[in-house]
Amino acid sequence: MDCTSGEQVSEGQAEEGNSAETPISKNQLKRLRKQKKWLESKGEKRKKEKEKRKRKIAEARARGESLGPTRKSLKENSMKNSACKIRVVIDCSFDKYMNDKDTMKLVKQIQHCYSVNRRSANPLQFYLCCSDGKTKERLDRIGDYKNWDVNFRDDPLWDVFEREEIVYLTSDSPNVLTELQPDKAYIVGGLVDHNHEKGLCHRLAEEKSVSHAQLPIGDYVKLNSRKVLTVNHVFEILLRYTETGNWENAFYQVIPQRKTVKLEVEKNTEPSDCIESEESEDIIKCDKNVQDIREENEDSKPKSETTL
Ligand code: SAH
Repeated sequence: MDCTSGEQVSEGQAEEGNSAETPISKNQLKRLRKQKKWLESKGEKRKKEKEKRKRKIAEARARGESLGPTRKSLKENSMKNSACKIRVVIDCSFDKYMNDKDTMKLVKQIQHCYSVNRRSANPLQFYLCCSDGKTKERLDRIGDYKNWDVNFRDDPLWDVFEREEIVYLTSDSPNVLTELQPDKAYIVGGLVDHNHEKGLCHRLAEEKSVSHAQLPIGDYVKLNSRKVLTVNHVFEILLRYTETGNWENAFYQVIPQRKTVKLEVEKNTEPSDCIESEESEDIIKCDKNVQDIREENEDSKPKSETTL
């Protein structure tokens, strides 16, 4: 069978020479074969990964290195026992803006959020509001989220939190977050859209008449690109901030260095002699006054500082 032709073929035809099956396209056939191959090799891959993990643990143990938190200590790091009462919510109500691939990416980002939160000594009070089907379906497929230490809600966030509690995080907000408060619920839009849906969460917050704010990125870091971060980066920045109370540290721990231009506050330094290349061209240290930095920020929008 010439699989490079654009003809419709049947899976049965392709696999067994049975012409009675429903015809499928060349691309569907390719996808099915790929999926079959992946399923066949899955078990073997898992086994190899497990062996590799075991080997690494044994090697680290032999070198006397710390093996990270134990299962037992992780159990103690529960949201209930956490000293941190800051609520962070991922709003999974954007299915219609994502294709299957992006929904998968979102689920991976949610898994990452869970993983970093779980490993923190004082985890955030993590909520997932999944009123939409597709993201929930994906989560259902990975299954283990049902055992997660997370507040899972099937309802839209508007039914879970009071309007006055909500602070919708969005890079388009003119308000800049200065601190986090336990009587607020900070919402991260569960959306992977490659910036196709610009301003979506800001419009949503305005429509629902709830507060909104952007992270104070511009005060500490200059990004090479727009200030829109991924769900997991935003979540982890909030987590790191609650650990240290220091936004700058939080940004530098989380945002990949290749995306940043570092800004350093140093008095009595002329802005003109600021640029000095580091080992990576991605990082340029600038000795500047914060005010200069603010003025230079690409956003000319007025920003009001808020303690949301
Ligand atoms: N295109 C979407 C952005 C998706 S990014 C939009 O314009 O609304 C995923 C989520 O991360 C956003 O919904 C927002 O909650 C959060 N986010 C990303 N960058 C942010 C920033 N700089 N400040 C605050 N929240 C941000």
